Amino acid sequence: MVQFCIKCGEKDPSKLIPIEEGVFTNSHMCRGCADRALLLRGEMEFAFTAVTTETGATVGAAVKDEPGYCKLSNMPEFETYQEAQDYADELNAKLRLTTLDAWKIVASSMRNQ
Ligand SMILES: [Zn+2]
Repeated sequence: MVQFCIKCGEKDPSKLIPIEEGVFTNSHMCRGCADRALLLRGEMEFAFTAVTTETGATVGAAVKDEPGYCKLSNMPEFETYQEAQDYADELNAKLRLTTLDAWKIVASSMRNQ
């Protein structure tokens, strides 16, 4: 049986992890898609953070103790890093994260990079 990520179609077996969820029993997701699914369900501790892009800045999600950050497709583009960080701070406040809490999560994702 060919295994592939049910979200993006990734077929590299080293990147796939099994999932058992709803109708998707005996299915697989790649690590990236699985992380995003968990983020959306709120099962991971994460904080929003500003991320520079080729054209300016946007907001990504840093997961506690996971290196790097998750790109978020539904985030606006900003001209400056500071604007993106202000927006990230607003989103973190909605998650009831203080600036310090958010900073600790982002810092843990950088430490492991
Ligand atoms: Zn995938």
